[in-house]
Amino acid sequence: NLTDKFDAVFKKLSGKGRLTESHVDEAMREVRLVLLEADVNFKVVKDFVAAVRERAVGTDVLKSLTPAQQVIKIVRDELGRLMGEGDNAALDLAAQPPVPIMLCGLQGAGKTTTCGKLALQLRRDKRDPLLVPADIYRPAAIEQLKTLGRQLGVAVFDTQPGDDPVSICEQAREFARLNGHDTLILDTAGRLHIDSELMDELGRINDALQPREILFVADAMTGQDAVNVVKSFDEKLDITGVVLTKLDGDARGGAALSVRAVTGKPIKFVGMGEKMDALEVFHPDRMAQRILGMGDVLSLIEKAEAAIDKDDAARMEKKMRKEGFTLETFRDQLQMVKKMGSMESLMKMIPGAGKAMKKAGGMQLPDKELKRIEAIIGSMTPAERNNHKMINGSRRLRIAKGSGTRIQDVNQLLKRFTEAQKMMKKMQKMGPKGLKGLMGG
Ligand code: GDP
Ligand code: MG
Repeated sequence: NLTDKFDAVFKKLSGKGRLTESHVDEAMREVRLVLLEADVNFKVVKDFVAAVRERAVGTDVLKSLTPAQQVIKIVRDELGRLMGEGDNAALDLAAQPPVPIMLCGLQGAGKTTTCGKLALQLRRDKRDPLLVPADIYRPAAIEQLKTLGRQLGVAVFDTQPGDDPVSICEQAREFARLNGHDTLILDTAGRLHIDSELMDELGRINDALQPREILFVADAMTGQDAVNVVKSFDEKLDITGVVLTKLDGDARGGAALSVRAVTGKPIKFVGMGEKMDALEVFHPDRMAQRILGMGDVLSLIEKAEAAIDKDDAARMEKKMRKEGFTLETFRDQLQMVKKMGSMESLMKMIPGAGKAMKKAGGMQLPDKELKRIEAIIGSMTPAERNNHKMINGSRRLRIAKGSGTRIQDVNQLLKRFTEAQKMMKKMQKMGPKGLKGLMGG
């Protein structure tokens, strides 16, 4: 994986006291290999390495950084620039509603899935989208989008299989006008390879609807191929941006690093999983941090804000204040965290957490563990949850049986919980001032 490989290169540097030109050269040779192996475009790699080298050799080392840190900082900055730092990733929907957004790309790239994910995000932004199935060639495609719409509670235009794609889009626009939908999300057909028939059809939809955004959906797993396909679609359609899907499964990262440099078009979103909430706004600088294993706390906070309902949070805070930190409030917190996505994906966003977990003997399957904890707490009575001290031996046995776990698991949870509770009490006693002292501030 890219992060580990960069880590290995930088580790070698960190042993050096002063950074000479030959150290930098050696590191850049390795960075070059890492990027080529990641399937980054050859020319992009060449320019990238040259840019980093020039800055690394030319600048004085900042006093606050070690030479290795200095190089890492330059690599991070340049990675961010490569992926389009400074681009405006936001969708431009400032137009007379209904504003059409067209998604296009090859078959299986993730268009239909991304349509659903986008609809969910737009709804969170208080928009009222209409999903439009315009892929009439795959029999299941219309049904797939209708199912997603039902699941999300988003309206889907009732496409009839025999209709022409251009006329479907026009009818959908009319329907949206009449029913007050402010955004159209057009799910178009794909092919296995680029062909002129498909391009013509997309061109006709483009002419008829004049989409405000034309997003090309590319499968990141296909690496440089994805980049080449973006290029040819862009020549025909003048796309406004790229959605890179399946980044959760791509260990190489080549597409993310090459797309912007090769096509000049910004990556606007990345797909990080099959679930409907697994679409992230793309931030080049944050992605650079993530690639280098530095975490991405900002995205984590945004995820929390999107997933956690403000009223829920306020209710929970009140409950905490009234009842204190009990097994019951602990479970509430766990459930909130779970809403934000899988524990594994969250850990990756915390600086250093991925590395720390590896050191601790690999992933402890936190998601499984979360489920177990929930099952155990779920098997307790309300009284037990509010006063864990009453949970004696026979109660522990009952809880283990009821949750399908072992008594050791129940014991371990209670032990951990008691420790956490002690910690919370200490912190409350100290107050904000004491806390600062503890953190050395
Ligand atoms: P389309 O042919 O372009 O419409 O592609 P689909 O939306 O039908 O997606 C094809 C497959 O890719 C489905 O199994 C999706 O669940 C999967 N998929 C789409 N986006 C992602 C993603 O970001 N991550 C992962 N892991 N799978 C994805
Ligand atoms: Mg589809």
